[in-house]
Amino acid sequence: MADYGGAWTAERGGCHRFVYTEDDGRPANCPEPSVTSGWRRDGQGRWYAVDACAGHSSQLVSRPRPPSTGPRT
Ligand SMILES: [Zn+2]
Repeated sequence: MADYGGAWTAERGGCHRFVYTEDDGRPANCPEPSVTSGWRRDGQGRWYAVDACAGHSSQLVSRPRPPSTGPRT
């Protein structure tokens, strides 16, 4: 499966990356089991804790400075 652009999700519990599925070629959450956790930053500079499978774990970064306190309203 090929990575789907730079797409990923901050949803916890599974690998955060999106990949093209072999079935229909549409992007979907990476189905591999998550083995590690790390951080990613989105285009707006916000940090998210995410999980990754072994194949995608290298795309995570170690914990940055503590993320600003929770979501702002
Ligand atoms: Zn993955």
